[in-house]
Amino acid sequence: MSVQFIDFTRQNEVIKSEVDAGWAAVIAKSSFIMGPQVKAFEEEFARYCGVKYALGVNSGTDALYLALSALDIGPGDEVILPTHTFIATALCVSYTGAAVKFVDVEDVTYNIDPEKLAKVVSKKTKAIIPVHLYGQMANMDQIMAVADKNGIAVVEDACQAHGAKYKGVRSGAMGKAGCFSFYPTKGLGAWGDGGAVITNDDKIKYMVEMLRDYGRTDRYSHKMKGFNSRLDTMQAVVLSAKLKHLDEWNAMRQKAAAVYAEELGRIGVAVPRQAADRDHVYQTYAIRVKNRDKVMENLKARGIPSLIHYPIPIHLQEAYLDAGYKAGDFPVAEKIAAEILSLPLFPHMTPDQVKEVVRALKESL
Ligand SMILES: *Cc1c(COP(=O)(O)O)cnc(C)c1O
Repeated sequence: MSVQFIDFTRQNEVIKSEVDAGWAAVIAKSSFIMGPQVKAFEEEFARYCGVKYALGVNSGTDALYLALSALDIGPGDEVILPTHTFIATALCVSYTGAAVKFVDVEDVTYNIDPEKLAKVVSKKTKAIIPVHLYGQMANMDQIMAVADKNGIAVVEDACQAHGAKYKGVRSGAMGKAGCFSFYPTKGLGAWGDGGAVITNDDKIKYMVEMLRDYGRTDRYSHKMKGFNSRLDTMQAVVLSAKLKHLDEWNAMRQKAAAVYAEELGRIGVAVPRQAADRDHVYQTYAIRVKNRDKVMENLKARGIPSLIHYPIPIHLQEAYLDAGYKAGDFPVAEKIAAEILSLPLFPHMTPDQVKEVVRALKESL
């Protein structure tokens, strides 16, 4: 039996007829840009997340960039973020002209270490971006405490944690703003690019609405130099159809993850650990193995694909050499980067498929 890394065939079938009807309605009105379906999705997503506002934008990267811009972050400012994340978390800071300040991550959750975070706060720090990596939220109470004590904004990178919870609160709803990607492979994925900023803050809502639409206040008036970063109406239709199933699909991910944890725990593999106060949605199922590259090769030979999220921490990426970091600066992140291995996982994965991966992994170790 071959297993794909991600297979959304069945998920797509579930929403296909609803999307077909929705798309026909968009085409009939030619309302391709900011059609009523965008507003409808924004309201549904805000309600789902438990916040006042959701604003559709064209990617997760732009969601982060526009949220930071709405907070007036720019040259001379510093933004703190974990080094073990997807590159976009850092790129959005660089786009504003602010400096990136990397922090190491926790060995258990792979998320930003709040104690190390507290030590790098300076007078220039304007924001902290906790990343809820792989589907599990960061230690938000401690992060919010550091932020509040120093008067710093928290912008959550929830691009991998749609629907995840921390003490019952949804990802993205605790900081000043929460940023989501709807890239197709994310927990809530469009059939193309998409993203959203969520917030309870009226000023951020006002700013992001303006920034995503050429800085416009009305058709002909432009208050600031904004951008073109809107959520496509066609994608909003797909997202509304999928959102109805998100909790169910996350529960299916959790079920597959539980089978992995039981089977792999038994043979001593380091499996993801869920903190007691959090709901992990397993956007990515990352185990740790010592001889990672060899294991990957062995898995591949047995028809099982695996990936690495992520092999190079951002402080060691060529693009960030100018930030002045070096190997050894963040030992936990560097160790994780060398050992981490993502196994196939998607909502409609069958128990047989999970067991097939487990069997191949046992042989591969
Ligand atoms: C996917 C992702 C992004 C960027 O989202 P795009 O929609 O691809 O621009 C940012 N941060 C994290 C952690 C991500 O996983």
